[in-house]
Amino acid sequence: MFEAEDHREIRQAVRRLCEQFPGTYWRKLDADRAYPTDFVNALTEAGYLATLIPEEYGGAGLTLSAAAAVLEEIQRAGCNGAACHAQMYVMGTVLRHGDDGQKARYLPRIASGELRLQAFGVTEPTSGTDTTSLRTFARRDGEHYVINGQKIWTSRAEHSDLMLLLARTTPRDQVARRTDGLSVFILEMREALRGGLSIRPIRTMMNHSTTEVFFDSVRVPAENLIGEEGSGFRYILSGMNAERILIAAECIGDAKWLIEKAASYAGERNVFGRPIGANQGVQFPIARAYANMRAAELMVKEAARLYESGKDCGAEANMAKMLAADASNEAANACIQTHGGFGFAEEYDVERKFRETRLYQVAPISTNLILAYLSEHVLGMPRSY
Ligand SMILES: Cc1cc2nc3c(=O)[nH]c(=O)nc-3n(C[C@H](O)[C@H](O)[C@H](O)COP(=O)(O)OP(=O)(O)OC[C@H]3O[C@@H](n4cnc5c(N)ncnc54)[C@H](O)[C@@H]3O)c2cc1C
Repeated sequence: MFEAEDHREIRQAVRRLCEQFPGTYWRKLDADRAYPTDFVNALTEAGYLATLIPEEYGGAGLTLSAAAAVLEEIQRAGCNGAACHAQMYVMGTVLRHGDDGQKARYLPRIASGELRLQAFGVTEPTSGTDTTSLRTFARRDGEHYVINGQKIWTSRAEHSDLMLLLARTTPRDQVARRTDGLSVFILEMREALRGGLSIRPIRTMMNHSTTEVFFDSVRVPAENLIGEEGSGFRYILSGMNAERILIAAECIGDAKWLIEKAASYAGERNVFGRPIGANQGVQFPIARAYANMRAAELMVKEAARLYESGKDCGAEANMAKMLAADASNEAANACIQTHGGFGFAEEYDVERKFRETRLYQVAPISTNLILAYLSEHVLGMPRSY
């Protein structure tokens, strides 16, 4: 019913690994808002976080759909890949746009687990979705850049050795296009923490290890600039399709876990002398969530297929993200409703998954912005922002 046809061996192996991390493990971390270090270490040791790193750098050199299968199975098992998923897609920017020295310096150590590249600093408090209005500035000073500014929602910053950072290197009023003058840096965080970087955790409705990050004249060696100065926005954009497809796969995994849980509870819970699942009012929301999940799953696969064949997949990656996030949100609603009062009790894990999957209506891109993309770029309607 929920079996995917592709990457069966990887899926089975991920599922076996996830069995070591049951609901009790996640509930305890959730209550403490603590990072799942053991889980992330187990995934790293098994090589899953290096799925997309080429073999020459010590990774598995597999396809995006293999990485999607890994993340989907993690969520499907009731675990939460949000603790480490960024490493899979952030690494792509270094791989595609970094120079040989940067790749040799970082990728093998990321693949081995010696370094974690979990932090991605794009969003700022005053610019929000309007990325090109960001204000964090990197000023060239000899063989360094000096960084001042602030990021918000920089998830996993406290649990990462490296951060991929987007900052302005030319003021916005001095560039021809607003997308120009932004640059990407790879920041060694331990070093930066000793020289002007500070991190403040933000407590959120789910356990996500997200933070605010402040840069007070942080010096970054110029050799840590990725690609050309001023072209950073293009580099970040080039990774977004992969990010959207991978997050969509996680949402499919969440939806499967929630639907399975709802259908099973509906068959077990007896009220008025029969299973609640015998009532169509209980069945149909679960069945509808299942149908929508399967449709979204097809779009995720289509987006991954286009991505892997080197074709433009902007529209499909966006649609996959939106439809999969909608499917997991719908499944979460159906699941908590099916459980009645018990859905709100922590020990069922339903309320935790409900909170965790709700994020994907907003991050890494909100549904409205996906609809705006489709309206403008696919349907040719006027630009709205
Ligand atoms: C838990 C969490 C983790 C995150 N992790 C990271 C991370 O690791 N790195 C990182 O860089 N960012 C991260 N983000 C940030 C995330 O990508 C942003 O929250 C998201 O892009 C939305 O930006 P915003 O919060 O500033 O909302 P805003 O841009 O302020 O938007 C608010 C609302 O207005 C709507 N809106 C805005 N403009 C328009 C428009 N033109 N048309 C229609 N609707 C519009 C949006 O859809 C949204 O619903 C994270 C966020 C959260 C909550």
